[in-house]
This record gives sequence, structure tokens and C-alpha cells, in this order.
Amino acid sequence: MPHVQPAQLSEFDLIRRYFTRPVRKAALGVGDDCALVEGRPGHHLAISTDMLVSGRHFFPDVAPRALGHKALAVNLSDLAAMGAEPRAFTLALALPEAEPEWLAELAGGMLALADEHGCELVGGDTTRGPLTLSLTVFGDVPLRAALRRDAARPGDDIWVSGTLGDARLALGDCRGEWLLPEPEFTQVRPRMDTPTPRVALGMALRGVAHAALDISDGLVGDLGHILSRSQVGALVDVDALPRSAVLAGQPEAIQRECVLAGGDDYELCFTAPAGQRDAIAAIGERLALPLTRVGAITPEPGLRLVDRAGNPTRYEGASFDHFAAP
Ligand code: ADP
Ligand code: MG
Repeated sequence: MPHVQPAQLSEFDLIRRYFTRPVRKAALGVGDDCALVEGRPGHHLAISTDMLVSGRHFFPDVAPRALGHKALAVNLSDLAAMGAEPRAFTLALALPEAEPEWLAELAGGMLALADEHGCELVGGDTTRGPLTLSLTVFGDVPLRAALRRDAARPGDDIWVSGTLGDARLALGDCRGEWLLPEPEFTQVRPRMDTPTPRVALGMALRGVAHAALDISDGLVGDLGHILSRSQVGALVDVDALPRSAVLAGQPEAIQRECVLAGGDDYELCFTAPAGQRDAIAAIGERLALPLTRVGAITPEPGLRLVDRAGNPTRYEGASFDHFAAP
């Protein structure tokens, strides 16, 4: 085997090379938002782990209540992306010190969201160490109903929920990449700190959508996972990508960066046949959640971006990769 320089190994190369093996008893292994193993009769158990590391996924001085919420929200979002119903989760926690008020806030934020979704904390592990939260969630999905990344078909519409880019817009302000006026920052900040997992949407899309995932690393990169696993391509209208009034008021270059490559919004991107447009509109109304058609799946591979006039447009930025070469 040729020697591989660490810098050449991306996050996804690393997972593929060292941790992906054919599954034997599981129905679906590494490579989707959740794995699927046999569950209660007529169901698969959807399982996903997501880890948050201080200084990497959140600022060390983050409000503990928001951190507790976010740690569970990003995990529930992977269940949502499969169309699974949350059941239970475990919490592995590394803490530099045990500070009662901080812990009460962290637990309060996490367990309030857990109660909202009927998802029980059933175990975990606690140790002293650099602040890290690693959660594993379990959910139910009826057999053959999971919204998998490999199920997109040519001709499908591509949809996204909610609005994209606000979490990235808030992050850019915190990092000093750009500065927002205080009222605008206050509006977008909750999208970064306390994201809403689209659980009800994922479940409503069973039998309606073909493929789905949650946008955790940015639309371009995440949609790319659907395209490669489904062996299809896509045409996406960049101007159709839904954005908040705050983001729509920013310079064009910032808007593009945020809607195309901004991670952390935890909206769903899904594909569905054109015959489902009315059903999808009805789901959006019932959930009071905007659902926007932004493009189409094509038989030829690759992601092509166009503007509202249909002219090709380029975007050079990449989505997030923890091990990308600098
Ligand atoms: P998501 O953004 O939906 O949480 P990731 O991009 O983190 O998914 O991971 C991509 C896929 O690789 C998922 O199926 C995940 O379960 C799997 N994966 C990530 N890290 C590992 C690992 N260390 N061992 C096995 N599988 C992994
Ligand atoms: Mg995911």
C-alpha cells in the first residue's frame, strides 16, 4: 500500500480507508447520517454518534445551556435526516472540572430538548479531561422507509428546509471575519448556538422523499454526499437558496459563502419526484416550515451551479473537512 502523507488524508478519506467495512448483520453501515440495524418488529434502529470538542465545535466560554441543547440537537438532526423517530441517547462527557452551576445549565439545556422529542437519556460515561461531549442517539424507522443518501434519482427535485447560512453568518462575526450590527447578530446567533433539528419534517418525508441528509458541513459538500452515493449529479440555482432577511442584506460574496458552504444550520436537504410537489407544500404548511425547491438531480455526475437566469456560476469554496490540507 503506498505511503499516504497525513496532509493528503481528508476526513472522509480517513473514514473510508480505516473505518469502513462491509456490514454483515447491519442493514446500513458507515457513510450515511445514521447506521441501520434490526430494531423492534417492522423497524430498523437508526444509530448516530456526534462529538463536540471545545475550541473546535464551540467556543470554550459558550453558555452551558446552549451547549447542552446543541450537543443533542446535532445528533437528533441525524435521526431527522433518516426520517427516524428519536427514542433514546447516551452521553459521554469529558470535563476539566465538575462545576455544579455549569453542569445544571448544561443538563437543563440538553434535557429540555430531549423531553421535547421524547428522547430518553439512558446511559453514558463521565471522565476528567478536555471538555468534550459525545452523544449517541437511537431512533426508530419503519423498514424500507429510511431516507438514505443513496436513493436520489435523475429527475428528482432538490429541496431544502428553512433558511441556509445564518449559523455561518453568526460564526463569521464571532471570528472577526466580518462585523454585523448588534441587532442583526442577535437575530442570527440562535441559529449557531441553539439549532433546531428538523425531526418532524424527516418523519413526514417518509414515503415522499427519495434521499435526504442534514446540512451540517455546508450545502455544496453535503449535497455532494448524496450525489456520490446515488451516482447522479445535480443542477442547483444559487439564487433560489433560501436565506433570512439578515443574510439577504449582506454583500453577495458573504451570502454565497454562507448559503453554499456554511455548515451548522442543520436544515434538511432532500430529493423527491416532481409528483410530490403538492404533498411537500402541504407538509411545509402543516409544520409552518418553508420548504424550497432549489434544483434537480441529473443523470450526468457533478454539481453544476447556475444563477436565476440559468447562467453557470462558479463557487470555489469547499465545505468543512476537519483534516483538509491547509
Ligand atoms: P454526519 O455529518 O452525518 O454526522 P459524518 O460526516 O460525521 O456524518 O460521517 C460520515 C460517515 O462516516 C457517517 O456514516 C459516520 O457514521 C461515519 N464515521 C465517521 N467517523 C467514523 C469512525 N471513526 N468510525 C466509523 N465510522 C465513522
Ligand atoms: Mg448528518
